[in-house]
Amino acid sequence: MQKYIDIHSHLGLLTLEENKEEIIAKMIEKDVATIVIGVDYETSKKGIELAEKYDFIWAGVGFHPTDNNGEVFDLEEFKKLALHKKVVCIGECGLDYFRDSSEEIKKEQKELFEKHVELALSVKKPLMIHSRPSNGTQDAYEDALSILEKYKGKISGNFHFFVGDLSIAKRALDIGFTMSFDGPITFTDEYDELIKFIPLESIMCETDAPFVAPVPYRGKTCEPWMVEEVYKKIAKIKNLSVEEVALVVKKNVRRVFGI
Ligand SMILES: [Zn+2]
Repeated sequence: MQKYIDIHSHLGLLTLEENKEEIIAKMIEKDVATIVIGVDYETSKKGIELAEKYDFIWAGVGFHPTDNNGEVFDLEEFKKLALHKKVVCIGECGLDYFRDSSEEIKKEQKELFEKHVELALSVKKPLMIHSRPSNGTQDAYEDALSILEKYKGKISGNFHFFVGDLSIAKRALDIGFTMSFDGPITFTDEYDELIKFIPLESIMCETDAPFVAPVPYRGKTCEPWMVEEVYKKIAKIKNLSVEEVALVVKKNVRRVFGI
């Protein structure tokens, strides 16, 4: 396994499609592996194709709660994708109340999320969760956790791009879930306390490329190899060397995703 792993990128998808060969060359140079995360059926399939080509790329299959092209989630079709040996998680999936937190949207999204939980349970793979609350609340986390707490001990997974508060982090830890951090931790100290609190054994690193590049690449398109900056910042906050952080995160990835 590579030194660093970006557990959540959209490499080869979204805007990272055209120059993916170049990005992959840079990942090899920087010793970075990644899990390519689908947001709908097409991108999930494309992620698998990429994972079949490279031994340092894995895939996640699922429907983003809002950016899913408005397609209907076909559980049986997704099950076929999910059984692929290089698919290491179900997602991204979850709840996103940021733009619309009406009861109708919440209900729809919860139903879609429950289908992903069902899929994860049936193929025995962890969840990659996207949770984005409405402004000034923790609502999407609270609802996602209420669903997941029913399956405590039976299901595992990771809260991607974690921006929850301390009480949410405690609930996530209580059901054995990990939390991953991204570019923003390199340019704001808002997450320092949270990262100090969460044991390193429950932390993962990611880029969510092409979104939110870390310092010193801000303003550029985010690419998976930039994940090194996230590791460095976590090492700084935890007062550890980047090598120590990389080693523990690697163990976390092995435990949760079986990589
Ligand atoms: Zn994503």
